Amino acid sequence: MDNINALLRELPAVDRLLREPLLEELQLKFPRKVVLQAVQETIDSYRSRITSGSSDLSELPQAGELHPANLACEAAALAEKKAGLNLKPLINATGIIIHTNLGRAPLSKQAVEALTGVAANYNNLELSLETGKRGSRQEHLESLICEISGAEAAVVLNNNAAAVFIALNALAGGLEVVVSRGQLVEIGGSFRIPEIMAASGAKLVEVGTTNKTYLRDYEAVVNDNTAAFLKVHSSNYHMVGFTAGVETAGLAELARKHNLLLIEDLGSGVFLDLEKYGLPHEPRVQDSISAGADLVTFSGDKMLGGPQCGIIVGREDLVARIRKNQLARALRVDKFTIAALEATMRLYLDEEKAITEIPVWRMLAADPALLEMRAKVLATRFSEIVGFENVSILEGISKVGGGALPTAELPTYLVALKPVNHGAEEIVKKLRLNDPPVILRLQHDMLLFDPRTVFEDQEDILVQALEMAYRD
Ligand SMILES: *Cc1c(COP(=O)(O)O)cnc(C)c1O
Repeated sequence: MDNINALLRELPAVDRLLREPLLEELQLKFPRKVVLQAVQETIDSYRSRITSGSSDLSELPQAGELHPANLACEAAALAEKKAGLNLKPLINATGIIIHTNLGRAPLSKQAVEALTGVAANYNNLELSLETGKRGSRQEHLESLICEISGAEAAVVLNNNAAAVFIALNALAGGLEVVVSRGQLVEIGGSFRIPEIMAASGAKLVEVGTTNKTYLRDYEAVVNDNTAAFLKVHSSNYHMVGFTAGVETAGLAELARKHNLLLIEDLGSGVFLDLEKYGLPHEPRVQDSISAGADLVTFSGDKMLGGPQCGIIVGREDLVARIRKNQLARALRVDKFTIAALEATMRLYLDEEKAITEIPVWRMLAADPALLEMRAKVLATRFSEIVGFENVSILEGISKVGGGALPTAELPTYLVALKPVNHGAEEIVKKLRLNDPPVILRLQHDMLLFDPRTVFEDQEDILVQALEMAYRD
């Protein structure tokens, strides 16, 4: 007990700690309040360690640990953490290219430049430089999107969920919309076709069965209240076995025959031929337009590789009705999105540029031989930290992610680490708490690093992070 009282007396006071040079300096850099909070929390945590030490002696701080300089050091680290941003860049070593938890698509340098230029300056968001009169924010994008997709008109909204929602509300509110039972999907936990439809005011009419739907199923339910057929791309799941669906062209023809609309929710926003890069077939936006879909919707931050947004392309008269809808203002995009999307879309004017400059496509099309070379270099550097015998290179699989191409397997080379002196979970946590955080895969107690999603200029930082994680 005497021991405990002595330790408590030794614990420096808040004022004393704040006078430590390290913390005085920090008060010039960060708000005093943040530093004060960090100091109080540091002292509190030592105090509770000391008092709980009455039941567990191993918990008690050792002599010297309570020295003001030591506590100041800990408080400073805590203050740095508190003053830092919560949302920050990190290193994705998972090999999942479009990871919704990790912010989906990283932007190209062209998009980042466009974005920062517009962010830091005034800009012509809604000013026509030609006439000097008020312009539309959508004008910066429309002709470019039309040129690439082959559509008559385009409008950009907050995300694809918003795009589907507003299209249904504007064109089919109070009317019936026919959807195949095989396409009543849920994407990302909160986007569910039946719920979105109910919220939009359109009435869902289900046709067909889970695995098979035919054109005649659609035709059988058409009546005076039918407004549209909705075709939804089953982005995040794949049916195998005996299945039958209806092609866009056939459905478009049936829609025209009955004077109805065909709306297609493509999800991913692919403009390039994936098969050319050894990936499974994925319908492209321009194919749906040329097959006769009246409207096509897709995300900006999935396979398109741009900022979060939802894009609607298609018939001019329909896009005009969507623009006039009350919700268009509530769901509209901001100047940052427009800047980043325009710069991204411009890269699609030249496929070669799109593949090399848009990070999502660069990662998708990465040459396995190059990935193997990068894995070998990383493995050599890792082995200097954890010992040669604990590092190996495995053939593995990267994933597209983001609810796109769920069955696509991209062959890759993984650097695998056997954890030494530390549990695997502990290393994973230390890497996650690193600055910048490193996110990786843990499988059968092995730490797996996939070079496909690690940018080349992040490799040094990755090695440093591992060094830190193994340090103590
Ligand atoms: C991802 C996806 C959505 C939702 O798009 P967000 O941009 O995330 O709102 C809707 N429909 C399909 C088919 C999708 O794949």
